[in-house]
Amino acid sequence: MAAKKVLIVYAHQSSGSFNAAAKDAAVEVLKAKDYAVEVSDLYAMKFKATATAEDITGDVKNADHFCYAEETKLAWEAGKLSADITEEQRKLKEADLVILQFPMYWFTLPAIMKGWIDRVLTLGFAFSNEKRYSQGIFKDKKAMLSFTTGSQESMFSANGVNGDMNVTLWPLQHGILHYCGFQVLAPQIFWAPSHVTSEVRGTMLENWRKRLDGVMGEEPLSFTPLDCFDGEKGFQLKPEVCEKHATKEFGLTVGIHLGKPLPPNNQMKAGV
Ligand SMILES: Cc1cc2nc3c(=O)[nH]c(=O)nc-3n(C[C@H](O)[C@H](O)[C@H](O)COP(=O)(O)OP(=O)(O)OC[C@H]3O[C@@H](n4cnc5c(N)ncnc54)[C@H](O)[C@@H]3O)c2cc1C
Repeated sequence: MAAKKVLIVYAHQSSGSFNAAAKDAAVEVLKAKDYAVEVSDLYAMKFKATATAEDITGDVKNADHFCYAEETKLAWEAGKLSADITEEQRKLKEADLVILQFPMYWFTLPAIMKGWIDRVLTLGFAFSNEKRYSQGIFKDKKAMLSFTTGSQESMFSANGVNGDMNVTLWPLQHGILHYCGFQVLAPQIFWAPSHVTSEVRGTMLENWRKRLDGVMGEEPLSFTPLDCFDGEKGFQLKPEVCEKHATKEFGLTVGIHLGKPLPPNNQMKAGV
């Protein structure tokens, strides 16, 4: 059997950072398991963060009204995407597991990593109207967010000042990763590494190493399958699905909650 391949997309400016330590630990543990590991170090690569017409080599179809998604789809089909996007798409296509490693910026990921998402996950290559969510193009691949925060865990709890981390994660895990079909593994969250002792940081990294040792066998988070929604009726939940869940205490997922309480930790743990 061919060796498993892992792509780590990494966004931190400093090799002395905790994010660098988390990335380095992942490279070491996964390589020791004989996985092929590639790292896209976005700041070191000076990765372009903006989605523009320069992402296409040669003429575009409609320069007067440039539509990024359509133009890049055509360019992808014609092999005319810029070299940096084509190279990232090669890495992504080969990967069995993708880890996004980053510090949380403004409740989401840093702009340079959002740029990687905007530019690399091209229409046609990563998703289409027919192929998304549970029927998505990358449904045989796994993906995981691994990130640090400035906030303590309690601040991102259901009663915390920042609101529930499950809600914060929904756009990234559902709207980006699962939209492209990825099986999304539970996020790895390093809470406030700047505000804990070096001993606690050491334990965080040790736990990360232990988790990585079995990461390929992990069950993904639950999302509602696409065939539960009626494409003829604006992709709303089918009545029979609503009926089936009428007596349940919690909604289906954090984002699709049927007017009920959010299912606790639906975006943090598999099997809930
Ligand atoms: C623009 C911006 C927006 C932000 N928005 C948010 C937000 O919305 N929510 C939020 O919670 N936070 C936010 N933050 C804070 C940010 O998420 C944290 O500063 C960041 O996650 C900390 O991670 P780091 O890798 O940069 O830590 P670092 O400061 O690099 O590291 C933390 C500590 O770990 C030490 N360390 C490094 N390597 C190791 C090692 N091998 N072993 C043990 N210790 C080690 C370092 O020396 C340091 O003492 C924001 C920050 C910025 C700049």
